Amino acid sequence: RAKSDGRGIVRVYDQEMDEAMQARRSLQAALRQAITRGELSVAYQPIVNLTSQHIIGAEALVRWRHPEHGFIPPAQFIPLAEECGLIEKIGTFVLRTACAEAASWPGDTSIAINLSPQQSNDTQLVHIIADILATTELPPDRLELEIVETTMLETGSPTEDVLWQLHRQGVKIVLDDFGTGYSSLSYLRRFPFSKVKIDRSFVCDLGYEKADSSIILAIIGIAETMNMQVTAEGVETQTQANLLRAYGCPQAQGFLFHEPMEGTELAKLLTAQQAGSERALPRVL
Ligand code: C2E
Ligand code: MG
Ligand code: MG
Ligand code: MG
Repeated sequence: RAKSDGRGIVRVYDQEMDEAMQARRSLQAALRQAITRGELSVAYQPIVNLTSQHIIGAEALVRWRHPEHGFIPPAQFIPLAEECGLIEKIGTFVLRTACAEAASWPGDTSIAINLSPQQSNDTQLVHIIADILATTELPPDRLELEIVETTMLETGSPTEDVLWQLHRQGVKIVLDDFGTGYSSLSYLRRFPFSKVKIDRSFVCDLGYEKADSSIILAIIGIAETMNMQVTAEGVETQTQANLLRAYGCPQAQGFLFHEPMEGTELAKLLTAQQAGSERALPRVL
């Protein structure tokens, strides 16, 4: 009995795996054409000063509108793009689009752009970014590149050198989703980080989980000592914002303040803010 069941199960798994693989392949094929067909765009989520609530920067978040399936979240298609070698192309598209957009923003509003490990592992990135900064005329110190902890793990990869070169060009390097990966604290010394972003998972239970408060306080403490900025991610409630402010967290990003929006919409908010209009502020205490 067990044997015949076993064979049956194997065949079912085979078929399911086949279907999953096919679905992935067809999505990858669609993604390959997405750029040229204009299906990719960039959304911008403001990052605010937690005290004044003024917008001090924004994070660029790639969006893909599939002709049949509608919006597909980046958490789904970025890994696909990384797997099939499309990430460089998509990454460069986001860099170019977001830097051009940000160059027109008033004041010294910064633009943060996510980098996949493959992008920073390629020495070409230094040239790509130098070219984009030159053509868009965006000042290098307004560009922030967000990397995740897994990016730093490969020893002997070009990543470390690439990030230091970018740092010397005046570009800021940011450690994203801090505390969720496997990196040791010594990476904070080895890489030229200007900022760490406290992952949403530590923010979401603030006020209920004592440990999360301790972790956040520790991150803020380390960042202060090392002269790094801090942004808390995924702030959704007033309680979270109040606690973060009480802990001395200088910056925040989250649905409580602003959701990701189109570039034109953000430009309007920034212009209103520049003019001193209260309309630019989210209704948060
Ligand atoms: P991330 O870099 O940590 O970006 C923040 C994510 O949190 C965004 O999701 C944003 O919409 C979401 N978020 C912001 N505020 C809140 C909040 O208050 N509550 C909740 N629940 N979520 C919030 P999104 O746009 O779906 O992006 C997910 C991830 O995909 C990003 O995480 C980043 O790792 C990756 N990603 C997005 N755009 C790019 C890109 O251009 N290149 C690369 N390599 N990765 C990207
Ligand atoms: Mg990010
Ligand atoms: Mg993040
Ligand atoms: Mg995150």
